[in-house]
Amino acid sequence: MLIKKFSCTHCGAPKVNSYTNPYVVCDYCGFMIDVDYLAGLQVWKHSQEHTEKYIEMKAKFETNSAKYLKQKNEQEYWKEHYNYWDFYYTHFPEYLPPTVAPGEKYRLFIKAAADMALEAMHKTKSPLTEKYNLAYQNLEYYQENNKNYVKYPSFLKMISAYLELLQESFETIYNNPEYNIMHNVLPEKFHVKMKLSQITQVWLPYLKEKEAEYFLESYGLKYEYTEAKEPHRYELFCESCGKENHVPVGALVCICEHCRQHQVLKKFVTCLGCGCENELPDNWNHHITCKACNTKLRVVQPLFG
Ligand SMILES: [Zn+2]
Ligand SMILES: [Zn+2]
Ligand SMILES: [Zn+2]
Repeated sequence: MLIKKFSCTHCGAPKVNSYTNPYVVCDYCGFMIDVDYLAGLQVWKHSQEHTEKYIEMKAKFETNSAKYLKQKNEQEYWKEHYNYWDFYYTHFPEYLPPTVAPGEKYRLFIKAAADMALEAMHKTKSPLTEKYNLAYQNLEYYQENNKNYVKYPSFLKMISAYLELLQESFETIYNNPEYNIMHNVLPEKFHVKMKLSQITQVWLPYLKEKEAEYFLESYGLKYEYTEAKEPHRYELFCESCGKENHVPVGALVCICEHCRQHQVLKKFVTCLGCGCENELPDNWNHHITCKACNTKLRVVQPLFG
């Protein structure tokens, strides 16, 4: 089978299962590997009606949110944001990081988003906002064969101003212990890539093919494909929603593709040297050392690679 080439930085396994969520998660150990902007785009384009419903709700949210901001009504402003994010992730569950298990974690994640909005309400605007707005206004367009294009240098300026602004706002999030949950559910580098993916989705159609390719490549958004052997899989019914998942043999964890429930499948690694069962420590990376014979053991042994 032809697969997109992703390998897990935590256990070394390749990505073998197909996915519809833009967050690429390891099928063996459950770690987030990357963000795939094409998968994100497919979700967005999947149904026009569905997406239009979202755009309509977002317009309402923006009107209300601006109204409460003007009134300095913190309580309603916070509530409006909470409800918006809850709606967003209910409407597009594919955009929810798979690390956000249903229940309490989901609630905390949505709450953090509303808290951040409230915090930003009190802040004076950063000069970087001005810089980004200016770069956006200075985008230059041209037409060729009845198609609209954006001039590449003006586009790059806008993207770089956007990333600078993003980095600044992420600093206040990721350095604030109140939002510790973010390190756990959406580490900064994936969050940046998700945002970059979203902006890429919007702008790619306005770039010439060569420029688009160059852009994707320089921002780490281009994917390589590779031929891989299909792993053996077994069926596993989710302990929470009861739906079926196809799990590759050797996986340590199954994150339900329907409801994001995490199910631990394996807590021990058998030593190939002495047969001893080693319990997995909390922080492992690729290998552990057998407690009985000191052999270095690879935690995840996919059938290839
Ligand atoms: Zn892994
Ligand atoms: Zn489930
Ligand atoms: Zn051993």
